[in-house]
Amino acid sequence: MKQRLRKLPAVHRILDLPRIKEALVHCGRPSVLRACRQALEEYRQDLRTEVPEEPPGDQEVLGKIEERCLQLLAEFSRPSYAGLINATGVLLHTNLGRAPAAAEFGTESYLALEFDLESGKRGQRLTPIRKRIERVCGAEAAVMVNNNAASLLLILQAIASGREVIVSRSQLIEIGGSFRLPNIMKAAGCTLVEVGCTNRTHLRDFEEALSDRTAAILVAHQSNFQILGFTASPRDSELAELAHRHSIPFIVDQGSGCLHDLRQWGLAREKTVFEYLDDGADIVCFSGDKLLGGPQAGLIVGKAEWVQPLGRHPLYRALRPGKLALSAMDRVLEAHSSGHLEEIPLYELLMTPAPTLKKRAQRLRRRLHSSGLDVELCSTMSTLGGGTTPGSTFPSWGIRIQGGRALLKALRMTNTPVIGCVEEDRVILDLRTVRVHEDSSLEKSLLEAHHILKDLGLTQK
Ligand SMILES: *Cc1c(COP(=O)(O)O)cnc(C)c1O
Repeated sequence: MKQRLRKLPAVHRILDLPRIKEALVHCGRPSVLRACRQALEEYRQDLRTEVPEEPPGDQEVLGKIEERCLQLLAEFSRPSYAGLINATGVLLHTNLGRAPAAAEFGTESYLALEFDLESGKRGQRLTPIRKRIERVCGAEAAVMVNNNAASLLLILQAIASGREVIVSRSQLIEIGGSFRLPNIMKAAGCTLVEVGCTNRTHLRDFEEALSDRTAAILVAHQSNFQILGFTASPRDSELAELAHRHSIPFIVDQGSGCLHDLRQWGLAREKTVFEYLDDGADIVCFSGDKLLGGPQAGLIVGKAEWVQPLGRHPLYRALRPGKLALSAMDRVLEAHSSGHLEEIPLYELLMTPAPTLKKRAQRLRRRLHSSGLDVELCSTMSTLGGGTTPGSTFPSWGIRIQGGRALLKALRMTNTPVIGCVEEDRVILDLRTVRVHEDSSLEKSLLEAHHILKDLGLTQK
């Protein structure tokens, strides 16, 4: 054993190999060193587990390590966040980046970020997006930050630090593990005052909790769960009135950024940003990458008196979005207000009528059939996901293939990975979340996955 381990070449000998030397030029020394060490370590592990009959020659060992090293370098150079086809039928898939991004919303290399074209003088970075959000949401004032958690942090820190915020016990939400309303409150230095019960909270609960320490009343949208049965909660307009009687703001964490009546697309209704503003909310905040269909962002809209100072708060500098997000959000908001919703990938997917999806599924089945792959058509139910309209589904079409988890995995290993769902021994690919131009890639990936399974001796029949 010791003898065999001693045979391992030193790192500098590997670095001297011609192909590795060349790799040093293209890949950089840190990556090459890491690949060398990993290849060596793997070889050492191999020697521990399987003892070769004949100790391999020096050149053979070097050759093996070199091969593995180059393989690792090729792996290192691939994008860390692979582009893929979402065939899960979940439109806002948290693990797949929520709303799909669009190349069309990418930015120019340079842009008038803090530059006034007319005067040629320095401009304000926040002003253009602020005006855009104000117009689209019909709000007096607006601010954009990095995500909705940042919205809440900024709002609470600026308005309620060192004071109390009243929240109903039914709304102490957790979203995706790392976002918990009580924790954000603590981070912002304010005291949470819980009122009511999990299923029932009344206006008088809020009234009784109000004191001169109260800084705000906060309502958080129950975005990823439902409380059904014997329930009660005061109207938002009543809460707004109560807050105003005490000269404090009524804050709403709306969450999804819903701007449209979702029922027109067969989805469950969700209260829109406009409706909260109409009910008298002073501040409404929401995510940019949920129902807005834009980049990761947090948008804050509402009364100038409360929202304007947020953009001047020292914390804002730490929470402000980058130019990619700013310019993408600007284009997405313009599409919302001009009614060209189909330009936003999320809405292109959301608005596709089920019969259109059925036709695409049929075409896909025909084409796969002629390549010798047996697939069935199936009607499916898609969901919005991403903590919006919980429990609500809408009709869609997809294809069903024998293959179970093995096929599901093979589909992830293809050049353009496909993420699907598994139901017993069949894989279901829902076309609701597949963009039209991705159909041919989907077909290719299915054939590729089939070959992967074939090579592993795991084919359908
Ligand atoms: C999604 C959501 C959040 C968190 O938003 P991020 O943009 O992920 O930070 C907070 N509150 C509500 C109600 C949400 O739906």
